[in-house]
Amino acid sequence: MASENKLLFARPPAHDAGQKFEGSENIEVTPDFEGFHQHNDMFSRGFWDPRFRNKVTMRFFKSFVKPTERVRDEPGFSQQDFALRNGPWAVTEMLAEMHKDRDRRDGFTDDFTPHLPPKVDPADIGSPSTAARHVKKVAKLYGADLVGITKYDPRWTYRSKFSARKVVSKPVEVPPEITNVIVLGKSMDYGLVRMSPTATGSTSAAAGYAEDAITLLALAQYIRSLGYIAIANQNDTNLAIPYALQAGLGEYGRNGLVITRDYGPRVRFGRILTNMPMAHDTPVSFGVEKTCEICRRCANNCPPQAIDHGPPSTYTFNQSNAKGIRKWTTDGEKCFKFWVMKGSDCANCIRSCPYNKDHGKLWSKVMMWMLRTPLRKLALVMDDKTRLHDQIKPSSWWRSENGKYAVLERAKDHALDPKLKGQQDKLKAVRDAQKAKEADAG
Ligand code: SF4
Ligand code: SF4
Repeated sequence: MASENKLLFARPPAHDAGQKFEGSENIEVTPDFEGFHQHNDMFSRGFWDPRFRNKVTMRFFKSFVKPTERVRDEPGFSQQDFALRNGPWAVTEMLAEMHKDRDRRDGFTDDFTPHLPPKVDPADIGSPSTAARHVKKVAKLYGADLVGITKYDPRWTYRSKFSARKVVSKPVEVPPEITNVIVLGKSMDYGLVRMSPTATGSTSAAAGYAEDAITLLALAQYIRSLGYIAIANQNDTNLAIPYALQAGLGEYGRNGLVITRDYGPRVRFGRILTNMPMAHDTPVSFGVEKTCEICRRCANNCPPQAIDHGPPSTYTFNQSNAKGIRKWTTDGEKCFKFWVMKGSDCANCIRSCPYNKDHGKLWSKVMMWMLRTPLRKLALVMDDKTRLHDQIKPSSWWRSENGKYAVLERAKDHALDPKLKGQQDKLKAVRDAQKAKEADAG
């Protein structure tokens, strides 16, 4: 088994630790900041850290390609549910396996390998604002829901990549010409997210990954065909969240995710590093951080209690947190252990967020407006009553017309299954204990 010391050999990219973070006024990068090594993310640790590399974790990983591995008699974990979830993973897995002979895992630990990169001189792409407008239009045509552009920042580049096959770190190579980052947001299915934490619910992430990969590959090839460098990243090479904030796609939330205006936290982010000159977007603010100060719904609904109830801080739970950033931080170890135990990923911190709505609906528009104003406390009380953050029975997806959640919103489809109810009761007990602790402390 590899020890952590064996993994630490990669050379970190140069960065200025004192440089201000432009993505949010409420996140501070302190002088203690250290870049992130990919072997410290929880998925990598599942391969090398003796505390997490075990039979249960291996069965969890295996279940993404062997759909019967974690099938059981529990709502949302039937063979049909796992088959639904694993369908889109075939796309992502196929891309990840294509260059395994070169110890690459495209999209997970390595950028997407270009398909026959065209060798052409840079085309006339007009002014930076014209180029930005064209890139955004093309990205949306290829499937992106949100697009933002920001400058490249070496602080967010991993200090090293991770090879799960060889269980060693690998150096990260970013060409010195890279100046800009295009951030692509892909929303996940609202109805499926409402079924978290089940295999049915995690189909939302599976489909998001597959769609994101296709959009990234297509847009990167478009940019290369204009004669510029384009490096498409999904889970690899750099941190998505600071770039999404810098590119103005949303605000940072207590759940450790970017909350977007149009889809709340229900968004996956891909990045393309490029030298194409383009105008940059600016960070946005629409009251999320003020809402998070008084709302703890994600923390209350997190089954293993991995989300902090307190104010932003530089506290790190463990090595899976980036060091030297004042922000809300989540405990990745608790989160990962829950996923492994459950046999599928969880999105309760997305499902329960008041910003996770069908934003076409009138109620959502009213809520979004109220959450931007001093009426946000009242908005949260009113939203609590709607039960729009409750889990929906996974079986209702199979009964619905085209999986549309409008059909799923019937009260009888809310998760009243005894096993799920037991889980809700446990959460309530944890919440009550937390409240009692806060009352004692206060
Ligand atoms: S994904 Fe689930 S377990 Fe992980 S932090 Fe969110 S709510 Fe908690
Ligand atoms: S659930 Fe509430 S506290 Fe958590 S991210 Fe959403 S708004 Fe913030």
